Amino acid sequence: MTEPRPEAKKPDHVRLFIPGPIEVRREILEAQSAWMIGHRGKEFEALFASVQEKLRQAFFTRSRVYVSTSSGTGLWEAASRNCIRDESRVLHLVNGAFSERWADVSRMNGKKVDVLEAEWGKAIKPEQLAEKLKQQPYDAVALVLNETSTGVKNPLEAMVPIIKQYPDTLILVDAVSIFGGYKIDFDGLGLDVLLTSTQKAMALPPGLAFAAVSDRALERAKQVPYRGYYFDFIELEKMLLKNNTPATPNISLLYATDKQLDYMINQEGLENRYARHEKLADTVRAWVSSCGFQMFSEEGYHSPTVSTVSNTRNIDVKALNQYLRTQGMVLSDGYGKLKDRTFRIAHMADLQLSDIHDLLNAIQAFLEKSA
Ligand SMILES: *Cc1c(COP(=O)(O)O)cnc(C)c1O
Repeated sequence: MTEPRPEAKKPDHVRLFIPGPIEVRREILEAQSAWMIGHRGKEFEALFASVQEKLRQAFFTRSRVYVSTSSGTGLWEAASRNCIRDESRVLHLVNGAFSERWADVSRMNGKKVDVLEAEWGKAIKPEQLAEKLKQQPYDAVALVLNETSTGVKNPLEAMVPIIKQYPDTLILVDAVSIFGGYKIDFDGLGLDVLLTSTQKAMALPPGLAFAAVSDRALERAKQVPYRGYYFDFIELEKMLLKNNTPATPNISLLYATDKQLDYMINQEGLENRYARHEKLADTVRAWVSSCGFQMFSEEGYHSPTVSTVSNTRNIDVKALNQYLRTQGMVLSDGYGKLKDRTFRIAHMADLQLSDIHDLLNAIQAFLEKSA
């Protein structure tokens, strides 16, 4: 499965170990250079249909997957606007920077927001959620499966049955930094919105976002009079039935998406892809403990796609990155308030074990040099 990466050796190419945008294979970058086509013609419909079929496989759904020319943030707005009625409330599960931001998005759209919080680095526990849900009815629970700031994967599979005890409560899930690196069975779990964007574990350039949407969520949208315009589920549905989108989509990126989904599903295979991510994550975690660092994320809830490492050795992360750049690589410092206390290694998308070894060896060389 190892992809040849001759371009990785060129000094002008810096391999990205940051949690988005990530490395995109040359072949996928080049798929974007196909000639332009009109988006109201048969050729486009065929492209859309091909992508739609593969998206449904990757989302494990028979329902629908909307295609949005926006980043993932746009679909946060879509989920909040379409699934929460004005007179009702939404419960946001917040344990990091991204989940905090999604709650803000709901507030900025005039929704009534309650928050269930856990300390950064900790997962939201199913028991906590069960208690909170007893207090009052919610139109939806909104959660971030993989907190990219802390490297915590929340226990979605254990939370779902708890939320399912409340038939009017929709389950809205952000999978932006994990989709494509971890199995999320949309129909099997009975989720209502599952959203992601292209530039993270899907190994595509930024510019498109996707959301699987349940029939229940569509029914809910019909009860919300002001859903906005660009991200209106009802309009997206109408056009999806014609293999199209309401406004002009990013056609170039759709070509690349079609090719990359084909790679994920038919060449690498989804199960192999998930297993590879688990292997990369295990490798990084073993290295972290072997050289005196600690994981920032709570034991048992480590992310398969990004590791947030506590900077327990107090290294100069900026200097580390300067050194890594001379080796044609870069990782990420901590996010927001964790900036100096942590650094992050993304091990997602099409990165191979050899890439992770290259990175860890280079970090090791830096540590020895600066010891
Ligand atoms: C990156 C990220 C987002 C924002 O996605 P964009 O595509 O940059 O808008 C949302 N949620 C999570 C968990 C992320 O990692």
